[in-house]
Amino acid sequence: MNSLAFATIDDLKQKLEKKEISEKELLKYFLDRFKKYDTELNSAIEIFDANSIFEKSGSKGNLSGIPGLLKDNIAQKDRALTCASKILKGFVSTYDSTVTERLKKSGALLIGRANLDEFAMGSSTETSAFGNTKNPWALDRVPGGSSGGSIAAVAAGLVPWALGSETGGSVRQPAAFCGIVGLKPTYGLISRYGLVAYASSLDQIGVATRTVKDNALVLSEIAGHDLKDSSSLSVEKKDYTQAIDGQLPRDLKIGVIDNALNAPGLDSEVKSTVESTISVFEKLGAKVKRVTISSLDYSAAAYFIISRAEAASNLARFDGVRYGFRNKNSKILNDMYENTRHDGFGDDVRLRILVGNYVLSAGHSGQFYQNAKKVQRIMRKDFEDVFKDVDVLISPVQSTPAFKFGAFAKDKLQMDLQDYFTCFANLTGVPALALPCGFSKDNLPIGFQLLGPHLSEVTLYKVAAAYEAATEWHKIHPPKFV
Ligand code: GLN
Repeated sequence: MNSLAFATIDDLKQKLEKKEISEKELLKYFLDRFKKYDTELNSAIEIFDANSIFEKSGSKGNLSGIPGLLKDNIAQKDRALTCASKILKGFVSTYDSTVTERLKKSGALLIGRANLDEFAMGSSTETSAFGNTKNPWALDRVPGGSSGGSIAAVAAGLVPWALGSETGGSVRQPAAFCGIVGLKPTYGLISRYGLVAYASSLDQIGVATRTVKDNALVLSEIAGHDLKDSSSLSVEKKDYTQAIDGQLPRDLKIGVIDNALNAPGLDSEVKSTVESTISVFEKLGAKVKRVTISSLDYSAAAYFIISRAEAASNLARFDGVRYGFRNKNSKILNDMYENTRHDGFGDDVRLRILVGNYVLSAGHSGQFYQNAKKVQRIMRKDFEDVFKDVDVLISPVQSTPAFKFGAFAKDKLQMDLQDYFTCFANLTGVPALALPCGFSKDNLPIGFQLLGPHLSEVTLYKVAAAYEAATEWHKIHPPKFV
């Protein structure tokens, strides 16, 4: 039965259709894997009991009976919603997010709530109030973040798919650290209704799977316009697997972001692995062109400012009145607000709120916030221009393979620089797909990413699937969990 752990969604669907296994047995199989492995891995904050999972699942559809996990910043009706923060202690969601609703309609079984960095702020899942999630490839290392729980669970074969969220790289960076496929879709393609906001102009729900086709299958169920989210694009629901055939599009032009590949601080193993990935594409017939996007060097700084600014205003709503935790020892209202926020938020979140209010404050917003928005506009223009010349772009996802717990405890700048290769996709709104492309000498996964113009997901999947068909990386799983 162990072949089920790393089976594709198509394989599982077939087994269900042929009645080789029932939905109940399949669910039990995955719940048992959580029981066996997750005490150590800690990928989930909560796994629900089988009965309640079936009770809440909806009609029959394309994902009928296929279990999956949602990051615990995505609302599921009548389930706790914590964002891995103490401040939401006791809070139970009264409604389903749009993706939750759509997944239920597709028949998917939503089996739990995945661990994350508190309010999705972080790159290692070390800021969760529910303990660290471990990297399935090396238990003394981080899985990446902030969607570390979602990604670790998929990589370890505890579940075939999971949803995370992306503000600056939180699906792609952990996907690269754990050797799986992670999508950050075009901004506005997936409804954010019911996703707890971090930085609303950047936030998107993302998809984590072990194969490209699985990723496209899940996206097909959740993407498309939603009246409940004013930032949602008017895009019809469609089948994102349509172009996947193991072939590259004809005359594909790939741009290699040269200044990303030559960025100071890029680990030499990551660099050489991405270089060999580029030669695979050349062998497959793609024309490769080296491009320089100079604004990219400013993206991490711009991201730092914009994300903190928006976080400060979004998190103002957690005041002890409306949600979850309240400090009950305060005598006057203002003390209650202050003490609740002091006790409820972790250090990292508090720091970000302080920085966010500072960069927005009257005397400083020109210097910081307005400048960062300028950089963002320049980047958008640069990406538009480069996509006149090439169809897709390639870049590293991560500067190094997964690091050890506590590695950057005293060097927060290094932690913030984790977003260096990812946040430009969020700032420009373009889609980006991370894929595994090799291993370091220490047997740690290395990833690369493909980026395309707005709404080019179908092409990205096609290109990625051709690479996947020509390589074996997606077939290698963390030995401890096989
Ligand atoms: N590491 C980034 C941050 O901490 C990205 C987080 C995210 O994408 N949610 O802001």
